[in-house]
Amino acid sequence: MNNRKNVGRAEKLQQRLDAGFVAAHFPEVASIVISMMYNQKGIGKSLPRTVHFFPGSSAFFRINCLSKDCVDGGFDLTQVLTAMVGNRRENAKGELSCEGEGASADHSAIAYEVLIQYS
Ligand SMILES: [Zn+2]
Repeated sequence: MNNRKNVGRAEKLQQRLDAGFVAAHFPEVASIVISMMYNQKGIGKSLPRTVHFFPGSSAFFRINCLSKDCVDGGFDLTQVLTAMVGNRRENAKGELSCEGEGASADHSAIAYEVLIQYS
C-alpha cells in the first residue's frame, strides 16, 4: 500500500535532480523567497512556510502537500516564477490548490507571496 507512495517519492527526487540549478533557468535572479500559508482541511489551522531559493539551489519549485493521504500532490510554482522573471516582477501573490488526489478534493491549498531579487 505504501509502495505507490514510495515510487512517487523516488520520482520526485529524480525530478529534483533533473531540474538543474536556479542559475541555469533564471541567470538574472539573485534570490527567490516564497512565503506561504498552508491550509489543510480538517486540521483547522494554517501553517506558515517559507522557502528560499538561490542561484545554486535546485530549480524545483514544487511545494509538497502535507496531507498524509495525498497522492502525487503539491503546489507547482514553476509557471508563476517563470512569468514573474519574464516580466522582471519583484513580487506577486496568489493562491493554489493541491494538484494531488487526496482523501477529498480541495483538501489543501496555499496562499503564497513571492519575492524575487534580481542581480
Ligand atoms: Zn494534497
